[in-house]
Parts: sequence; structure tokens; C-alpha cells
Amino acid sequence: MTEQRFNWTSTEIAALFDLPFNDLLFRAHTVHRQNFDANDVQVSTLLSIKTGSCPEDCKYCPQSAHYNTGLSKEKLLEINKVLEQAKEAKKAGASRFCMGAAWRSPTERDMPAVLDMVREVKALGLETCMTLGMLKTDQAEALASAGLDYYNHNLDTSAEFYGEIITTRTYDDRLTTLDKVRQAGMKICTGGILGMGEQVSDRVGLLQQLASLQPHPESVPLNMLVKVPGTPMEDLEELDPLEFIRVIAVARILMPTSRVRLSAGREKLSSSEQAMAFFAGANSIFYGDKLLTTGNPEAQQDQALFRKLGINAQQQSVPVSEEVHEAALLDTLAETTSLYKNAASSVKPCGLVV
Ligand code: SF4
Repeated sequence: MTEQRFNWTSTEIAALFDLPFNDLLFRAHTVHRQNFDANDVQVSTLLSIKTGSCPEDCKYCPQSAHYNTGLSKEKLLEINKVLEQAKEAKKAGASRFCMGAAWRSPTERDMPAVLDMVREVKALGLETCMTLGMLKTDQAEALASAGLDYYNHNLDTSAEFYGEIITTRTYDDRLTTLDKVRQAGMKICTGGILGMGEQVSDRVGLLQQLASLQPHPESVPLNMLVKVPGTPMEDLEELDPLEFIRVIAVARILMPTSRVRLSAGREKLSSSEQAMAFFAGANSIFYGDKLLTTGNPEAQQDQALFRKLGINAQQQSVPVSEEVHEAALLDTLAETTSLYKNAASSVKPCGLVV
């Protein structure tokens, strides 16, 4: 096990970003192997349990009521629908089921239904994760008592750049909720979004903040911005995937025992780039924004990629026929631009909206 540090300086982190790419990847992969089975990738599935009309103004998010993205809004899902999806997720090989609601924070009226979801999904034998916005202390405690394993609450970027992205809450609000989650005894899932026009110094700042959390967040989702038409970020320049992989590698070095997750935007990475991201230390993925079944082509592409790379998901994947497997393999190899899907039509839960 690598010694964990919580006092990385920005100069030290900037020096990691400045390393030649091969040196950085070698160092990150060495740390990765010291702490994990290098061929193990954890799989989570996520579901938006309440979509759209969010009062927050996150500039990347199609769910914000501040922007017109043509999104269809949905009320809080009924528990039966959530359970149906959770069962499908488990069948498709997910070990963790993440539920997200587009709220600034949950109301007291919403909490009983949300707590039921945690209990029932957990009873299926899945790990549970929720992202519901800011929490009060008693809400965090209630979620923990219901058995919630992880709470997702992304920092998004550096404290310095945060005000350029969101004005309806502060960085400190985020840190306060994370602290409540930790105090209540839950595991923390927190990360950021890259490609929002930030400087390298903001990437340094984000990772420094994440790595200063003690203990480190158990789960660190890293998202590549997907530019959603109708949001203020629709015309930003694309992030170079190699820059994204650099962030993954630095995150792996700073937080050696955290699961670093390739999250939103993964569909924009080619198979080779994803393989490089796994080598750099990413060891968790989402199987997409919709609950997956064996018929879902994205799940099959992932399974085909895992097979090609010799990666085994923690939970067994649903077996697919040879024909389906072969078709998925060909699809993966083709890596057509159709993978650049229309982000506006694929709503992801809060914090995973890009
Ligand atoms: S990211 Fe979450 S908090 Fe921000 S606008 Fe979207 S749903 Fe609301």
C-alpha cells in the first residue's frame, strides 16, 4: 500500500502535471498496482430519480431551470420503477446503484420516499449511492441509518474557478455537505468536470482539495464535459483526451486507494483512450445513464472492451451470445462518431449531467 498524504502542495501537484506523459503514466500505474488489482474495474449504474427543473444554475447542466435545453422533466420516480431498474442493473453486472435527483436539497416531504429507495435497493444486494444536493445534518444521518453506502456531491472544479460555473451556491456549501456525509458515517463520492474552460491551475486546485479530504474520498468520479445545446457551455472547445488522462493519472497518484471513475463523457473516448485511462489508474466506470439490460449496445460495447483488455468487472456480467458479442466487438472496433451521442437526449443525474 502506498502511504497516503493529505498535504500535497499545489507546487508538487503542478510538477506532476508537468511530467512527460510516459513518466506520469508510469508513476501513476505503479501506484495503481501497489493498491489495486490492475485488471479490476468496478461497475456502477445510475438512474435519474427526479429529472429537470433544478433551481441551481450549474452552467454545464441541462437540468437547470435557468437554461432551455428541451429536456423533459420528471417528478420523483415511484419506488417500483426504481427497483425494476435496480434489478436490471444488477443483472447487467453492476455492483453499485446510484440514484440522482435534480434538487438544490431534498425537502422533508421527499425524504421518506428516498429512504425507502435506499432500503429496498440495498435489500437487492447492491451497494447504494445517492446524489440529492445539499444535506442537513439530520438528513445525512437518516440516509446513513437507512443504509446508504455512498453520497455523491461533486466539487466540480477549483475553489477559484467555482464562481464562474455556479452562482447559486458556494464551494464552502459543497464542503459542508461532504463533511456532514462523512460525519454521518457514509462513504464519499466526489470529483469534478474537466473541459469547462478551466486552467491547469484549476485542475491542480480541484485535485488538491479532493486529496486534502481526510480520509480521501472513496470514490472520485472524473467527468469530461459534454457540451449540451442550450447550456452556456455548448460552444466550449473540446478537451483533449490526453489532458483528461493526465488528470486521471495525477488523481491516482494523489489518492492511491480511491476508486477513480471514468464518468460522463466516457463515450467520447475511443477504446484505446479508455484503455490508457485504465492504465493511468481509472478503475471504475458507469454503464451509461440508462439502466442496462443485455440488449443495451453500450453495455455490450463495454463488455467487449473489457474482454479485449482482460478486465473483469467485480460482479459477473450477463453472458451474451457469441453473435451479439461479435457484433459488439465490431462496433467497438469501428469507433464511429456515433459514439458522440447527443448529450441533451441522455440526461444523467445531478452532478453527472455532462
Ligand atoms: S448539476 Fe445538479 S445542482 Fe446543478 S443544475 Fe444540475 S441538477 Fe441542479
